Amino acid sequence: MRCPYCGSADTQVKDSRPAEDNSCIRRRRVCPVCGGRFTTFERVQLRELVVVKKSGRRAPFDRDKLMRSLQIALRKRPVDPERVELMVNGVVRQLESSGDAEIESSRIGELVIEGLRSLDPVAFVRFASVYRDFREARDFNALVDELVGEAKDSEESPAARRAGEDKPNPGKAS
Ligand SMILES: [Zn+2]
Repeated sequence: MRCPYCGSADTQVKDSRPAEDNSCIRRRRVCPVCGGRFTTFERVQLRELVVVKKSGRRAPFDRDKLMRSLQIALRKRPVDPERVELMVNGVVRQLESSGDAEIESSRIGELVIEGLRSLDPVAFVRFASVYRDFREARDFNALVDELVGEAKDSEESPAARRAGEDKPNPGKAS
């Protein structure tokens, strides 16, 4: 597996274990050249999905590409990569189980936006603003208003509190 930081072709596996839902194997890797650490996931692919883009062009569904766009939205956010993986698993399962061979790119985007909503509010706004291609500031503000409204509604839920935390809670047992 090529190092995402320096491009070195050789990286070492430090640790392998099944992910929470047993749908994949999580591997911690380290690059001996630059010391970079990253995580890979190995999983079963049930069938090929074809994405129909806005332009009408068709392309095979590219999970890695989706993960890369999520990494950008999640940059510097305190979200466990495994939770991101589980969210994407859920999106892919929904797409695979829809029975449609071809899937509109907008549908994938909306599913991911829904997944990010509960994962991380900042990444949710980042992804949605890029994905929905907001040209006007008021579109963006409407989304933020929607989000703030929801945060108020769920103020007492532990999930909402976790999502708002930037630093690990020292009092919390791991
Ligand atoms: Zn490297």
